[in-house]
Amino acid sequence: MSAADLHGADLRTLSAALAARQVSSRELVQQCLQRIGQHAALGAFLHVADEAALAAADAADAARAAGDTRPLLGVPLAHKDVFVTRDMPATAASRMLDGYLSPFDATVVARLGAGADGVTGAGMVTLGKTNMDEFAMGSANENSAFGVVRNPWDTAAIPGGSSGGSAAAVAARLVPAATGTDTGGSIRQPAAMCGVTGIKPTYGLCSRYGMIAFASSLDQAGPIAQTAYDCALLLQHMAGFDPRDATSVDRPLPDLVAALDAPLPGASAAKPLAGLRIGLPREYFGDGLATEVGNAVRDALREFERLGATLVDVSLPRTELSIPAYYIIAPAEASSNLSRYDGVRYGHRTAHYRDLAEMYGKSRAEGFGAEVKRRIMIGTYVLSHGYYDAYYLQAQKIRRLIADDFRAAFGQCDLIAGPVSPTVAWNLGDKADPLANYLADIYTLSASLAGLPGMSLPCGFGQADHARRPVGLQLIGPHFAEARLLHAAHQFQQATDWHRRVPAL
Ligand code: GLN
Repeated sequence: MSAADLHGADLRTLSAALAARQVSSRELVQQCLQRIGQHAALGAFLHVADEAALAAADAADAARAAGDTRPLLGVPLAHKDVFVTRDMPATAASRMLDGYLSPFDATVVARLGAGADGVTGAGMVTLGKTNMDEFAMGSANENSAFGVVRNPWDTAAIPGGSSGGSAAAVAARLVPAATGTDTGGSIRQPAAMCGVTGIKPTYGLCSRYGMIAFASSLDQAGPIAQTAYDCALLLQHMAGFDPRDATSVDRPLPDLVAALDAPLPGASAAKPLAGLRIGLPREYFGDGLATEVGNAVRDALREFERLGATLVDVSLPRTELSIPAYYIIAPAEASSNLSRYDGVRYGHRTAHYRDLAEMYGKSRAEGFGAEVKRRIMIGTYVLSHGYYDAYYLQAQKIRRLIADDFRAAFGQCDLIAGPVSPTVAWNLGDKADPLANYLADIYTLSASLAGLPGMSLPCGFGQADHARRPVGLQLIGPHFAEARLLHAAHQFQQATDWHRRVPAL
């Protein structure tokens, strides 16, 4: 077998091929680098590691030859540019951080790669850093300071955001897997629009240490890959307690890979999901959902029924309020987090200034893009003395009510299912109005506000001139139900082939 035979193979296959010595890490890395170069026009990468990746591949091959059997050793991977990395720049797609080099690796990067003090790494090889919306603010990847990302299925379309580069890179088979982050949908939504699988774990499962902060009470890392199986494999390594993140959760992680095929009580080979109750929130299937998306999602739900699951109606009455609540809380936290970019401690510093005030002002004016400035202003406003009670405090109360809605719904079901996005990917440039972008987050924000795990899996395509635009199904679980989510998604993928479809590039 050669690396060419393994083109487009998933992580699980690559791991097996490496273990069987059918291919070397160097060959796999070379092939990925070549494809990344061929498809540079997608704009998926902000930095490609080249020589460093080849050196890491050689080290992985040498370790394997010496008896190292770590399953992901030498498997190539890309990181969203929101993770800081010791050997490559980290910009969060902002001019503010252009050329920034971190003295350390983010915990997630260390866990998947070379490790760090006290943490064994999985030994994966980092190919580079993927494009994103500036500071992860966006749903279309049009807010990057370094150019848009194109959807590999249809290059006139957006890839979704903010982890658009990661999703596009996996969909185009430039890399077998990539990391993402999700504050209000940024893993799930680009995964849906690019036809790949992604999971946002429970808040606190993956360390935020070394993740450039957007809204700290919501930010969560997760994997984007071809399959639920691969996501389980990656998440198993990414997750884990980290004393350097105060909101990191200290609890034992179940074996997510073993759980994929572990039979549920009452299940059989023909009905692997027998006994599983899937709740369908009535608010997720009403006005505003494009017919083509609704159709694909309903077809997928019928497949879940064939697999033995029971569909039950549930209600999440505060869904609509998730948009105003999120777009108050997230900018409020962002305005505080981004105050560190003052041109002194961090970030771009303007070339000419008369005094300190002008230096701050000009540095920030030049360093931040329009969407980031908009959010800093909104955030500063809602936190200001006169408006704190009217906006920020109200939004926090709504956040609690949204979490209560989920708690009530999970009294009636084990998982919740619905669309990820109300529409398929739209055309680049089509949604100039920021509000129109915010509204597209209606199905992803509430799980984020409640800290719940959510995932997106490919379940079909749009219709007519959207026939090449993927549709994603969202599954949401109770806190720490990642194993249940991944199990259900894996069983669905054993019975369907949406996740095997590839764009004609
Ligand atoms: N689209 C949402 C926003 O613009 C969510 C982004 C994210 O999850 N990082 O804030």
